[in-house]
Amino acid sequence: MAYDNEKIIKVAENVDRLITMDLKPSPIHELYKAAREYHGKSPTLLAAEKLVERVSPGDSVLLITGALISPFGTGETDGPIGTAGLARILCLHMNARPIILTMPSMVAMVRSTARAAGLNCIEPQQIVEVEDYMRGFVGISSFPIDDGEAIRNSKDLMETFNPKAVISVEVTGSNRLGIYHAYGRDYSRYMFKASRLFEEAKRRNILTIGVGDRGNEIGFGAPKLHEAARKAHPFGEKCRCPCGEGAADVTKVDVTVVAMVSNWGAYGVEAIISALLNNRDAMHDGTLESRMLHASSMEGAVDGRNQTPDYLVDSLPEMIHVGLVEMMRAVLVAAKIESGASGGHEPFGKGKY
Ligand SMILES: [Zn+2]
Repeated sequence: MAYDNEKIIKVAENVDRLITMDLKPSPIHELYKAAREYHGKSPTLLAAEKLVERVSPGDSVLLITGALISPFGTGETDGPIGTAGLARILCLHMNARPIILTMPSMVAMVRSTARAAGLNCIEPQQIVEVEDYMRGFVGISSFPIDDGEAIRNSKDLMETFNPKAVISVEVTGSNRLGIYHAYGRDYSRYMFKASRLFEEAKRRNILTIGVGDRGNEIGFGAPKLHEAARKAHPFGEKCRCPCGEGAADVTKVDVTVVAMVSNWGAYGVEAIISALLNNRDAMHDGTLESRMLHASSMEGAVDGRNQTPDYLVDSLPEMIHVGLVEMMRAVLVAAKIESGASGGHEPFGKGKY
C-alpha cells in the first residue's frame, strides 16, 4: 500500500496506543491483540487506508450507530459522537455524501449530534441532490427494527445510494441465532436489525468497517475475532436469555476496529485519515468534542452504565474525551502532518463560488 510510509505508521501506532488505554478495566488489550493479528497490521490504519482508497468525491457512505439500553428507546453517548466525527471528515474533507442510519427513537439525538459536529442534516434521498457548491450535508434516517423490513431496506439503500463503504460504530450485532442482546437479555424486539445491512453490503462487495469495544458489536464474525469476543464480553459465552448462545456478535466485516470506547475507534480512523490527507485540521478538536457530547446528552443520549444523561461516555467524564481528541491532534503535529493542506479546513469557510 502506497501510504505505508513512516509518517503514517507513526501516527497509527500512537493513535492505537491512545485508543487502547485500559481505563475501566476492560478487555481491550485482548480484543486489540486479536484484531491486530487477524488483520496483520493496525486495524485503525487499515480502515483509514481503505476509506481513502475507495471513497471518491461525490460517493455515498452509509454509517450506522445507536446502542439501545432500554426498551423505551434510550441510546448511548458512545457511537453517535464517533459517527458524527467520521461523517464530518467524510463530508468536509473528502467531499463524500455521508448518510447516518440509527434507531427510530434516536433520530433526533443523532441529528443534534451531527449539527454539533458542524453539519447540515437532511433526508437521505436529498443527499444525491447535493451539488459541488454546497457544503457540509449529511443525510439522517432511521433503520428498521422489523427483520423483513431491515432486509428490504438494506437492498433499497444499496440500490439507491450505491455506497462505497458501510461503517458501524458501537452497534449491537446478532449472535448465531439472530438474537440481539443488551445487558445479556434478549432485546431483539426492540433493536434495529443492523446486521442485515452488513450482510447485504458483503454480498455486493462493498467495504464494511465495524467499530466496537466489547465484542457484542458488529464486526466480530470472523472465527478468530468471535472467539476473542466470546471471552471478552461479560455475556459473550452465556447470556441471560433462553437462547443460551451468548451475546458475542457473528457479523462479518472487512475491517474490525477495536478501542477502549467505540467513539475513540472512530476518532482514531478520523486521525489517520487526516494524516493520509496531510491535513491535521481535518481532525475535529476538543471544543467540537465537548459540543457533540452536550448536544447528544441534551437530546437524551446516556452513559451505558449510569443510564442517565450525565455528559459521560462509557463512564468516563467529558474532559477525558476532550483530552483524547487533543492528544490525537498532538500526534498529528508531532508527525509533521501539515495544517490546512490539500484543500482541507479553512477557518473562514470554504464555499466554492
Ligand atoms: Zn441469548
